[in-house]
Amino acid sequence: MGKVDCELSSNLCYNADYQIADFITKMPKTINLSSQIQKQLPAKLVKFLQTVGEIAAKQEQKLYLVGGVVRDLLLGQANLDLDLVVEGDAINLTQQLAQLKQGKITTHPRFGTAKLQWGKWSVDFATARSETYAKPGALPSVEPGSIDSDLFRRDFTINAMAIYLTPTHYGELIDLHGGRDDLKHGLIRILHKNSFADDATRIWRGLRYEQRLDFQLEKNTLKLLKRNIPMLDTISGNRIQYELECILKEEFPEKILRRAGELGVLAKVHPSLKGDGWLAGRFRQARQLSLPDLPPVGLYLALLAYPLTNEENKQLISHLKLTRSQAQTLRDTNSLKDKLESLADPKLTPSRIYSLLHGYSDSAIIANESASDSPTARRHLQLFLDKLRYVKPILIGDDLLKMGIAPGPHLKEILQLLHEARLDGKVTSRQDEEDLVKGWLD
Ligand code: ATP
Ligand code: MG
Repeated sequence: MGKVDCELSSNLCYNADYQIADFITKMPKTINLSSQIQKQLPAKLVKFLQTVGEIAAKQEQKLYLVGGVVRDLLLGQANLDLDLVVEGDAINLTQQLAQLKQGKITTHPRFGTAKLQWGKWSVDFATARSETYAKPGALPSVEPGSIDSDLFRRDFTINAMAIYLTPTHYGELIDLHGGRDDLKHGLIRILHKNSFADDATRIWRGLRYEQRLDFQLEKNTLKLLKRNIPMLDTISGNRIQYELECILKEEFPEKILRRAGELGVLAKVHPSLKGDGWLAGRFRQARQLSLPDLPPVGLYLALLAYPLTNEENKQLISHLKLTRSQAQTLRDTNSLKDKLESLADPKLTPSRIYSLLHGYSDSAIIANESASDSPTARRHLQLFLDKLRYVKPILIGDDLLKMGIAPGPHLKEILQLLHEARLDGKVTSRQDEEDLVKGWLD
């Protein structure tokens, strides 16, 4: 394979020492990606895209595939979250799609957008638009525009490419900002110098793509990113929380957090957060301790906030406007930290371990397990997760009533004592439990 026309399916491409001039002279005028679409997307989805392209053409509207999926098609990576842009009216187009009788369509006429959900696929339709920012960090004012203006409002060149789906040009790449070239060189580059000031969430997005793809921030982009770090203060806590969540869903969030820590971006979320080697080690361990295939977002968040004091924890919860359950996980994690010393006692009985840990969320327990230096405490936490939390006595309230115990607090107490006896292995059968209760009654 020649260096110039090597496709981007290999990340090695951008490291190759080919000459840009050479590339430009040999570059075909139009690049057609229909064979990549055919190869990388499921056949049903390809058929769907072609049909929608035809319907749009009948309405004299132009249809494009845009953003992440174009980037990932060029990289040879799977991406089934499709973003389509319509030059014209996306709502009008999706109304025609009802005739395909596939999936569920939700429209948002105010924003000129629609979503089609179909099995495990989701396709977003948007009317091509241009954006202006009245002030940094505010949400932009938008108005219908051309595909060119729609691509110009995007974050990075690699995310600002489109593919024609209109039948006469099907598969043709539109790359007005050199995105394909930046993909080849492994570069993250903004489209204009005000980009980070207009929307500082792009700072977090830039770090996310840089680390996910093993790319580099282009020199000038990095300079402007650093200069605009103070602009993160213009972004609402909700939007930062969303970016953080996207990061925690990545394969290796610790890489992004380390970079964000070094650049001073993480400190903008809270000055006491650290993206250091300690965190990286805990994240690696967290992946082993949690369910496979599911990014342990809650657990990562608990570990990220682990070094914070109680007061700092409260500040973080309120700044990021965390959900009730996320906030509870952080509070649980923090309060469990204070119990680690007791949990490090090798003489603890199972019932005592149970009483120390019951009621805490899994994430809080696993976070403390991976953060604790004491092997004994870690063993006790794991014992609770694997076994103790499932232990129940065989006898239930009704059985005790039948044995002549009066209803009320006393009955509850007996049930609790039975539970403890079970946990500590003092009873192992129904008969054992009945004998124990009878013994207490005598
Ligand atoms: P991912 O693989 O992480 O989903 P993506 O490129 O699909 O990457 P999305 O967040 O799904 O990213 O957004 C879709 C597209 O919308 C992006 O590719 C980009 O063109 C554009 N976009 C998203 N957020 C911004 C932003 N803050 N500023 C400018 N453009 C954005
Ligand atoms: Mg996406």
